[in-house]
Amino acid sequence: MHAPGVPDTIDDAPPPVSLVDTHAHLQWPSLLGEVDAVLARARDAGVRRILTLGTEPASCRAAVLLAERHAGVYAAVGLHPGDIGPDAAAAARALEGLVPLLAHPRVVAIGETGLDYYHEDSPPHDLQIASFARHLELAARVGKPICVHSRDSADDVLRLLAAYEGRVTAVLHCYTGDLETAQRALALGCYLSFAGNATYPKLRDLLAVAAVVPAERLLLETDAPFLSPQHRRGCRNEPANVAYTYDAVAVARGITRGELGARVGANAARLFGWDDADVDTAGAPRAAGMAMATAGGLA
Ligand SMILES: [Zn+2]
Repeated sequence: MHAPGVPDTIDDAPPPVSLVDTHAHLQWPSLLGEVDAVLARARDAGVRRILTLGTEPASCRAAVLLAERHAGVYAAVGLHPGDIGPDAAAAARALEGLVPLLAHPRVVAIGETGLDYYHEDSPPHDLQIASFARHLELAARVGKPICVHSRDSADDVLRLLAAYEGRVTAVLHCYTGDLETAQRALALGCYLSFAGNATYPKLRDLLAVAAVVPAERLLLETDAPFLSPQHRRGCRNEPANVAYTYDAVAVARGITRGELGARVGANAARLFGWDDADVDTAGAPRAAGMAMATAGGLA
């Protein structure tokens, strides 16, 4: 027995960590079905802020509901390039339909948007570009950052971001490009967010990029339920696993996990405008009856 809060051995006293997961999809069915347990495990791993991103209208509304119900969870709303459909006018209407959600105090970013030229079943490039441009225009209009998916499309993504330089701050999520592309993005003011694939032995070059990104532009994420880090490869990913990515990147940068957590946490707080105080922990139920700022639309 020992006094409350006093560890038996040094092994029981891990250094205090404070992590954030800047890109997850908590409303994905495989996570939503056990979201309380998912958030409890995140909390136990030291994760105290999670940004959950919608990819189409229904998942955007679900993301906002999660952000409303769980402390430490924040939402982003947008249309993933793979989910915009074949009709440009319908995609434009779908995005306009998300605009009321942007008034909600827990909606801190626009996304997931971007360009995907990798998947052959993705919509035509011109439709994707038009949708991404509309997201950028919206981000400029409402003054929120934008979370960008870029797959085999870096030149077009950076060209569009350059058109909004100084007006929109972007995160290149799940960054997988080379150092030269990273430098082009950094020159445009982007943040680079690294996911679990930075822990893969075959992607040492990616970890090397994560090691040299300026500290004030670095973010880390899971992209849960996708992209589990090496230690959990083959399993469904969840925010608690972001700790493995922090460990890999911390070692690569020659700092501690705690130092990296403090830095990334400050970056995310600055970018997303959320409170960085260690008071509400991811997943703790929020007080009942919190007023919705959004008029309707979340039923
Ligand atoms: Zn994503």
